[in-house]
Amino acid sequence: MRCGYCERRCRVSPGRTGFCRMYMRQGDTVIERFPHHFSACGTSRIESFPFYHVYPGSRSMAIGTSSCNFQCRYCSNAYIAKEDPEVMQGHMYRMFPEKLIDTARKLNCHNIVFSVNEPTVSIPTLLEVVQAARSVGIPMGCLTNGFATKESIELLASIFSFFNVSLKGLSSQFTRRYIGIDSSQPVLRNIRRLAQDRHVEVTTPVIQGANDIEIDGIAEFLASVDPEIPWHVFRLLPEDEMKDAPYPDIGAIDHALQSARKKLHYVYFHNFVGSAWVNTLCPACGSVVIERFSLGCGGDKLKHLFCQGKACPHCGQEIRIETGKPHETLVESRA
Ligand code: SF4
Repeated sequence: MRCGYCERRCRVSPGRTGFCRMYMRQGDTVIERFPHHFSACGTSRIESFPFYHVYPGSRSMAIGTSSCNFQCRYCSNAYIAKEDPEVMQGHMYRMFPEKLIDTARKLNCHNIVFSVNEPTVSIPTLLEVVQAARSVGIPMGCLTNGFATKESIELLASIFSFFNVSLKGLSSQFTRRYIGIDSSQPVLRNIRRLAQDRHVEVTTPVIQGANDIEIDGIAEFLASVDPEIPWHVFRLLPEDEMKDAPYPDIGAIDHALQSARKKLHYVYFHNFVGSAWVNTLCPACGSVVIERFSLGCGGDKLKHLFCQGKACPHCGQEIRIETGKPHETLVESRA
């Protein structure tokens, strides 16, 4: 039988797991091999994932399991994503949903973000976690590569209310060579689906000489879905099998993004110290409506939220932003 959680649709049979090694067959069912095992459980600023347009300034609990359904040559989390999950078990915490949510509350986290690896490889566990999170009003978001099947993107949409989908490239030439999948079409389909009723941001890690020529095409695709989707262009430092690749050229990417900004309302360029592209500008009058620090290496931080509610304080233009309850109110209401 085949596993239907992602578009690899691996054959799983007794004694044989699929590509990610996280699911196995039991009778006529595909089940998780390592339910409730987490590789990470710590706090972070929501801007650092990055999420720029949802719960700005809030404290998140970052969680993750192990393994991945992609095989990116430049993976920045290879020690978790590519390691045999069986070997990883010695480095994991076993935490049931109530304990996880209790930890989030003790750490004063406003929300939970699954961010270390791909959530598609741990869907049954996450379906249980969200029940406990919902019972105390903690929203959940995730970073995903968007390669889920149509059925499991619905499961992910039932778990997470905010997404950052990594759209790594468009062409099959790129996806085959650098990611190990034949096509980006399922990812594009799932971005369209999620954008219908979930908060969606998109990240593109740029690798010099590999996908930098696709910047304009990606901006065009996103604009065709919704020009208000926040797009994070991430300067990926050479890692994993691509350690010897050149560092992406900041000036060249900056230049390429000038035309993207005419297509999309919220374009960001980060992962280097001092980026001027980490503030949110009002799409109508151009004034700064959210100011951030750029600390490099995914460590961005909120400085000032100038919006009045969801409106630009200068011209009143509505800014796409999910504010939710302020963190303090949420904590007080639980007391
Ligand atoms: S989730 Fe894992 S086992 Fe299932 S199809 Fe994808 S790679 Fe294969």
